[in-house]
Amino acid sequence: MALSLSYFLPKLAVCLMILIILCIARTDSEHSCDDNESRLKYTLNESSHCRSVTDSDKHLIGSLEDWSFANSLLLDTFPIDKEKKNYVREVKDAIFSVVLPTPLQTPVKLVAVAHPVLEDILDLHPNVTKSEYFLAFVSGNTILADSTPLSHRYGGHQFGDWANQLGDGRAHLLGEYVNRKGERWELQLKGSGLTPYSRRGDGKAVLRSSVREFLCSEAMFYLGIPTSRAVSLVVSNDPVWRDQFYDGHPKIERAAVVLRLARSWFRIGSLEILAHKKETSLLRKVTDFVIEQYFPTIDPTDKNKYLALFSEIISQTADLIARWMAVGFAHGVMNTDNFSLLSITIDYGPFGFLDKYVPSFIPNTSDDEGRYSYQNQPDIGIFNMNQLRAALWSLMDREQKRQSEVVLRGYVDIYKRRFMELFRAKLGLFGLSEQDEYIVALLLKIMEDTKADFTMTFRQMADLNLRDIENDDIADELWALKDLHAHEQWQEWSQRYADRIHENGDEDTDQHRRDRMNAVNPRYILRNWMAESAIRKAEKDDFSEVRTLLQILQNPFEKQEIAEISGYAGTPPDWAKKIRVSCSS
Ligand code: AMP
Ligand code: MG
Repeated sequence: MALSLSYFLPKLAVCLMILIILCIARTDSEHSCDDNESRLKYTLNESSHCRSVTDSDKHLIGSLEDWSFANSLLLDTFPIDKEKKNYVREVKDAIFSVVLPTPLQTPVKLVAVAHPVLEDILDLHPNVTKSEYFLAFVSGNTILADSTPLSHRYGGHQFGDWANQLGDGRAHLLGEYVNRKGERWELQLKGSGLTPYSRRGDGKAVLRSSVREFLCSEAMFYLGIPTSRAVSLVVSNDPVWRDQFYDGHPKIERAAVVLRLARSWFRIGSLEILAHKKETSLLRKVTDFVIEQYFPTIDPTDKNKYLALFSEIISQTADLIARWMAVGFAHGVMNTDNFSLLSITIDYGPFGFLDKYVPSFIPNTSDDEGRYSYQNQPDIGIFNMNQLRAALWSLMDREQKRQSEVVLRGYVDIYKRRFMELFRAKLGLFGLSEQDEYIVALLLKIMEDTKADFTMTFRQMADLNLRDIENDDIADELWALKDLHAHEQWQEWSQRYADRIHENGDEDTDQHRRDRMNAVNPRYILRNWMAESAIRKAEKDDFSEVRTLLQILQNPFEKQEIAEISGYAGTPPDWAKKIRVSCSS
C-alpha cells in the first residue's frame, strides 16, 4: 500500500530497509534470581522532602503498610507459565511467568520521586518515601505481601523483522493498584533482574537510561501526550557492564531501577506472539480482556468487536504519533514490542527531541538506516498497525478481514487531520481554511532550510503581535525566529500567516492568541543535552539536576526562572552536537 505521508514534510525519505539490531547487552554472567531473600541494604533517601505537607494531604495514605494492591485481574484471567524456575526459555500457552525481582547487592538510594504520581495515582503521602520499607519496595528488594510479581511474554517485529519471543527481560509487574478515583494501574519495576525472557541480557538497567526513562515519561505526560508514568528512581552501586556504543569499549556502570506505571502494559507484541504460535484461544482471551477493560465504547457482544478494536487503535495511534510530531519527539525504537495497545508512549530508550528542525533526525545511533527517524514515524505507525492487523487475523471472518484493510487505509486521513489540528493550534489559528496545509508545509520548509529550533520557533511565534508579523518586525531576543527571517520565502509566509490570523475574527486579540499558543507550545522539552548534563552529575552521585529537571518539565508551558538561568530555553550548547544515544541501556 503506498501511503507515504511526505505530504507535510518536504524531502521526506521513506526508509524501509531492514536492519536487525539486537538492542540488548550481552553478559557473561548468568545467575539465578530464584532466591527471594530480602536484602534490605539502603541509605535513607534524600529526595522525599521535595514538597511540603499540607492539609489537602489528609486523604493520602501515610504508610506503605496501610497500602495494598487490588486483587489481580491479570492473575485471575490468564494462564500462568507452569514452570516456576527462573531460567531463560521459550514459554508456551501462558501470558505471564511468576518471577521474583533480584534484590540489588549494594546499598540502594532513592534519588528522585515524581510526587504527583505518588499522590494523585498511588494515593501515597510524601512522608511514605522516607521509610526504608518504601525504598525496599521501589528497588525490588522486598515484595509486598499481596504481590505476585509477573513477567509478561510477548514477541515483536524489531526493525521490520519478526523477532520471535521477547518479553519482559528485566521488568517485573508487581501488581495492580486501584486508586481512590477507581482507576486501575499496573506497577512495574524496570531493571529488576533476570526473567525467563532475559534472552542474552543481564536483567539490569543502567543509571543513564533509567534517568532518561524517569524524566521523559513524566515530561511527556505534562506535554499532554499519552504515556506510561514513572514514580521513582533508585540507584545502587551494583556493577553493570555495558558497551555503550557497541565499539568494543565496555565499561562498568551503576544499576538503577525505575518503578513505572501504566493502565496496561499490553503491546502489539502481546498479541503477535500468540498469533505466531497459533495459540488462538489465548489470543482471543487477551483481545477480549483488552476490549472489556480499556475500550468501553466497544460492545463486547458485538460480532464486529475485533474490527472495532482495530479501528480504535488505528485512530489512537495516529493521534499519538501526530502528537509526537507536534512536539518534535522521536521515539527511537518503534518496534511492535514497544507499541502499546492503549496507544500510550512506552519503553523510553534512545528517544530524542528535535533541537534544530531536521526531519531526518535519527535519535538512535544504532539505527544506521534511519528507519525510526523523526519523519518516518507516521509511516512506521502504518507498518505497526499492519502487524496488529496480522495478529488479529485469525479472529476475523472474511468480510471483517476485507474491512480491516479499509480501516487501515483510514490511518492516513486520521493522522493528517490530527497533524493539522495540532499545527493549527500551534500557530494560534481558529477554524479551517484551505490554505492551512500550505501555511504549515511552507513554515516547516523554511524551518528545515534554516535549521531553526523546532520548539522555540513555535514558542517565540506567540510573542509576535499581528502588527509585528505584518511589518516583519522581529525583536532581537526572538532568536529562533531570526533564523527564519533570513529565508527568501519568509516574507511570503508571514503575509499569508497574517492574513490567516485575520480570519480568526476581530475578537481574537494578540493576547488571546498568545495565551492559546503558549498553552500548546512548550518552552521546555527534555533536550538531549539537558538529560545528558543531569546524567553526568548523577553518575557522580549528584542528583540535584535530575530533580530540578523533573520539576521544570512538570510545567513545560510556564516560564521558570531556574530554567532560564540554566539556558533550557536557549540554543543548545556546542558540546550537545557530540552527544550520542544508542540502544544500550
Ligand atoms: P528494548 O529494546 O529495551 O525494548 O528491549 C527489547 C527486548 O530486550 C525486551 O524483551 C527487553 O526486556 C529485552 N532486554 C533489553 N535489555 C535487556 C537486559 N539488559 N536484560 C534482559 N533483557 C533485556
Ligand atoms: Mg521494549
